[in-house]
Amino acid sequence: ELEVLSQFTHQPAISKDGHRIEVAANIGTVAESQMSLEQGAEGIGLFRTEFLFMNATSMPTEEEQFEAYRAVAENLRDHPVVIRTLDIGGDKELSYLELPKELNPFLGYRAIRLCLDRPELLVTQLRAILRASHYGKLKVMFPMISNLDEWRAAKALYRQAQEQLTSENIPFDDAMEVGIMVEIPSAALLADLFAQEVDFFSIGTNDLVQYTVAVDRMNEKVANLYDYFHPSVLRLIKTVIDAAHARGKWVGMCGGMAGDELATPLLLGLGLDEWSMDGGSIAKIKRAVRSLDRAECEQIANSLLSIGTASEIREQLKPYLHR
Ligand code: PEP
Ligand code: MG
Repeated sequence: ELEVLSQFTHQPAISKDGHRIEVAANIGTVAESQMSLEQGAEGIGLFRTEFLFMNATSMPTEEEQFEAYRAVAENLRDHPVVIRTLDIGGDKELSYLELPKELNPFLGYRAIRLCLDRPELLVTQLRAILRASHYGKLKVMFPMISNLDEWRAAKALYRQAQEQLTSENIPFDDAMEVGIMVEIPSAALLADLFAQEVDFFSIGTNDLVQYTVAVDRMNEKVANLYDYFHPSVLRLIKTVIDAAHARGKWVGMCGGMAGDELATPLLLGLGLDEWSMDGGSIAKIKRAVRSLDRAECEQIANSLLSIGTASEIREQLKPYLHR
């Protein structure tokens, strides 16, 4: 099975009727960026920058961050790399930040909320990312966006970082794309308005499921209720993709659903443009896309959207596995 699968590693993900999608990798370290190309990645759809912060005893400097982002940009050469700004808080702690204990950390002071409260932290990171954009094809996205104000505030800090670098004569890619993660239902429901302002969306199903069905993604007691095939989640995904495409924007997915081949016909049918996953899943998903007909998948997706339970949706998708 492994040997057969490896023949798909470096093939493009093109459906039988000629529709190509982009298959990218999720990474958390510079080392993983090197490995991802060997695993068949056509880019990085999610660079979780937390590791830089969590493996340190004090806040990483702009220079330290710049070196890491530049290394990833250079490793990936002309392939796109989406860097996500700091997503700390919730279950992820930082010893040197002394965040207060919270009753509901997943609903609390984390990610973009924390960064907008400490703008110097975000501006430093954005300066490092912008500087690295001179050495590769970088894009940047903000995590845990729940409303337009947060997005606009983050974008204003991005402009501020750009202006600083310009006045310091430091080069950067001034056409770098700036997007948001869609991982909170309130953002998915406003996708039509966000689509007028952002360059792209990346759907984070890991959190989107947690917040849509009110199930802690870490709690095994309720793990049976945690399912990205929940019909409500599918409707949110469709809402986001349709809203983005209506404005000519692209949509990626970097949550676990993108790496599940049972979901491939559905996501292909809904029109997802970029799929980002653990490197180990890439060959499998490429094989799945190459076995499918996109026009047929559109019909499948349409009919699945009127089904009321996740278990029935899973059942209906099974015949398309390894056809
Ligand atoms: C997600 O929420 O789906 C995601 C990709 O981000 P993380 O798993 O890092 O929260
Ligand atoms: Mg998330």
